[in-house]
Amino acid sequence: MTKRYMYSALIIAAAAVAAFGIRALRGPRMKTANSGYRVVMGTFANITAVAADSKTARACVEAAFSRLERVDEVMSDYKADSQLSQINRDAFKEPIPVDDDLFKVLEIAVEYSRQTGGAFDVTVGPEVELWRKAEETHALPPEAELAQARSKVGFEKLILEARSQTVRFEVDGMRLDLGGIAKGYAIDLAVEAMQRAGAIGGLIDVGGDVRCFGPPADDRESWLVGLQNPTADDRLLLVLKLRDMAVATSGSYRRFAEIDGKKYSHVINPAAGSTADELISVSIVARTATAADALATAVSVLGRGKGLELIDSLAETEAFLVPAGETDELIHTEGVRQYVDTSQPVPVYSTASKVAGR
Ligand code: AMP
Ligand code: MG
Repeated sequence: MTKRYMYSALIIAAAAVAAFGIRALRGPRMKTANSGYRVVMGTFANITAVAADSKTARACVEAAFSRLERVDEVMSDYKADSQLSQINRDAFKEPIPVDDDLFKVLEIAVEYSRQTGGAFDVTVGPEVELWRKAEETHALPPEAELAQARSKVGFEKLILEARSQTVRFEVDGMRLDLGGIAKGYAIDLAVEAMQRAGAIGGLIDVGGDVRCFGPPADDRESWLVGLQNPTADDRLLLVLKLRDMAVATSGSYRRFAEIDGKKYSHVINPAAGSTADELISVSIVARTATAADALATAVSVLGRGKGLELIDSLAETEAFLVPAGETDELIHTEGVRQYVDTSQPVPVYSTASKVAGR
């Protein structure tokens, strides 16, 4: 199980769902099935499906899990035989043919790199490796090694050949890291799978990244999703009411390297090779989980000023930011108000965010 996925669980699970289990909805014809928590992609996932009958609802849940597992097979970097591992091993030597899911996510990742001026970058692998080592040894990466890693990072050095659907590295020692986007992308594919299997509504939560669609699991208009308070594990920052939207959180409050009493985020500023420590939590609400996931990582790097500027420039995209340090400040874009549920007594649906063991 990758640490990568494991630690990126930041939002509280959409626990509302678990509380309901399987029961009739909105009259006798709508049924809902809930998976409970299951381990997938190195973290806990919880899926709810709303369908015309219970059997269909249960089948939708299974269709979603199968899809998540298929994505993980290809994109996992802890499985030595996954396509991602193969790329990381051999893509400098020769172009590596990959399947549709992986090629598509790499194309999307490069688009986000362009859109974010390189703040989001799936070629950040060599720098991530150095900071992982730092996490274990509690010593800062040596400057010479960081400089060396920086020379191997840069999405413009990743060659995607659409005709042959192959991936190639321009520089020896490059490494892809999909930790900032894979969960979101997998969620979007799993939503499609659920809809194909007959779901009228549903919610997929993978490690705290969530997308919902259609009517929720009770008589409300929207799904309720709690955002975890980054400075108090057992409390929610707020409750979002979402319909046909996704939310993903990126932050350093759960996963960090600690060196000489200072905490360093697991999100890296690719250009500098340094950790992105200005914000301890960034939640992005967007139409797709892929967008929410990639943008949450990017805004962590961009920081408050440039981050908000980017999110303000995008339609149907909102942000909640919590700065590091001794502050209760919650910074957000103007449009978030429509998603915040002020009527909700916050603790009702709270559960601790669940993180799988290794
Ligand atoms: P997230 O929790 O979605 O922000 O993803 C964080 C993970 O993405 C890290 O653990 C790394 O594996 C990877 N990562 C770190 N920095 C970046 C970056 N600047 N762009 C893309 N992926 C990154
Ligand atoms: Mg992300």
